[in-house]
Amino acid sequence: MALIKPTNDTGSASTNQISSIVSTSTATGKTIFGLNSHKEKGTWILDSGAKDHVVSSLNLFQSYEKINPITINLPNGMKTKATHKGVIQTYDKIILKDVLFILDFCYNLISISKLVAHNHLCLTFNNTVCSIQDMTTNKKIGSVNSHASLYIFSDSNNIQQHLNNSANIHQICKVRCNNLWHNRLGHMFDRRLDILKQKYHCIDSRFDKCNACHSAKQKRLPFPSSTAYALHPFDVIHVDIWGPCSVVSLHSHKYFLTIIDDHTRYTWVHLMKTKSETRQHLIHFIAYVKNQFKTTIKVIRSDNGSEFNMHDYYKTEGIFHQTSCNETPQQNGIAERKHQHLLNVTRALIFYCNISIQFWTYALNYATLLINIMPTPFLQDSSPYDRLYKKDFDISRLKVFGCLCYVSTLQANRKKLDPRAKPSLFFGIHPTTKGYITYDLDKHDIKISRNVIFYETDFPDKNSTIADNLHVPLPLNNNQIVL
Ligand SMILES: [Zn+2]
Repeated sequence: MALIKPTNDTGSASTNQISSIVSTSTATGKTIFGLNSHKEKGTWILDSGAKDHVVSSLNLFQSYEKINPITINLPNGMKTKATHKGVIQTYDKIILKDVLFILDFCYNLISISKLVAHNHLCLTFNNTVCSIQDMTTNKKIGSVNSHASLYIFSDSNNIQQHLNNSANIHQICKVRCNNLWHNRLGHMFDRRLDILKQKYHCIDSRFDKCNACHSAKQKRLPFPSSTAYALHPFDVIHVDIWGPCSVVSLHSHKYFLTIIDDHTRYTWVHLMKTKSETRQHLIHFIAYVKNQFKTTIKVIRSDNGSEFNMHDYYKTEGIFHQTSCNETPQQNGIAERKHQHLLNVTRALIFYCNISIQFWTYALNYATLLINIMPTPFLQDSSPYDRLYKKDFDISRLKVFGCLCYVSTLQANRKKLDPRAKPSLFFGIHPTTKGYITYDLDKHDIKISRNVIFYETDFPDKNSTIADNLHVPLPLNNNQIVL
């Protein structure tokens, strides 16, 4: 039984071929790969000839990433593409790695060769049933019945039903299904999740109660009565300083400078040890806009803080500096509301994963990224990211902040008995390499890695995260380049 042929080594390296056997019908009369046939997302087929696991729904993934599309030739002559790759955990002992996502598929395939390569299992076939045995415990953990020469199981009669005997697993699955995107997106809920779902179909907006939200979020300040905004990006920017924070960060930061573009509402934050660093950050930001966006800032709005008094510099750059009057501090309301939003999301991220508060700067940077991709009524339900970059953000790389993950160790540096992966925490997305920012739980060190497996419902004890190593690299702004 071979539903997908191995990759053709001599031809195009990324092309799989589905063999002609798949054009036969199942006992239920549905053609397995007929593109227009009824979709059964919960149906799985064990395939002895398939090189790869394949699924048809992104919701089945525990974690996944976008890949350069792999062309798949169907037996009816049509072509389709695998667009994502990821990890599915069907049970705590069964992990399916490098699973391909093909939207047009009607069934989900488990490659038997990959299944046994990555899990310590023994599969025994006869003409009616396939038995699955855990080689570690020697216990039979499941069986799959044969239908028309195919070993098929569906949601009502599936391997997960045989395997998911543990109440804990049901609990984890429930949390994962209902709140995963709420947690990934900085505890976003209500209308905004539904809006994002229209653009990103993989988002599941079902929502259970969330304690972190209750603990973290203050009532939002009301929207301003006027919704007028500048005509173009960087015509007007708002700047403000927040701090001092009652908890000094791992790198002694107490303040952050917030810069908001009036037209797009895109936000940048710069961490600071003292307020006197403001001047340097502003000068760098003015140069950054000139170089990256080929435009100039026309007006800077701030409160009356002395840190923003750089009149000579503004003059040489041709920038007007407008300050809010003492009697009308609400003129600085945009920055004030943004600070409250940033802190609400930062608190939710920290409370949910229960890490030490000394990491607040990492949470703040990730919160800034999440707020920039969040739809807002002020922008007619598009996001600051959409407005500034005029393209969709790739949300497939978002993970639950602070979750447990395993980072592959570099092959060049490891000995035969060294661990192949190290337990870590997810702390964000690196802005230039597109790697993940992870915190090594053994060495208390920050790493940037592309080979990471995420457990987005697992969070280590708070005490294990506390760092006494002050040589950890600085947190990097997630939001200074297009991700
Ligand atoms: Zn929440």
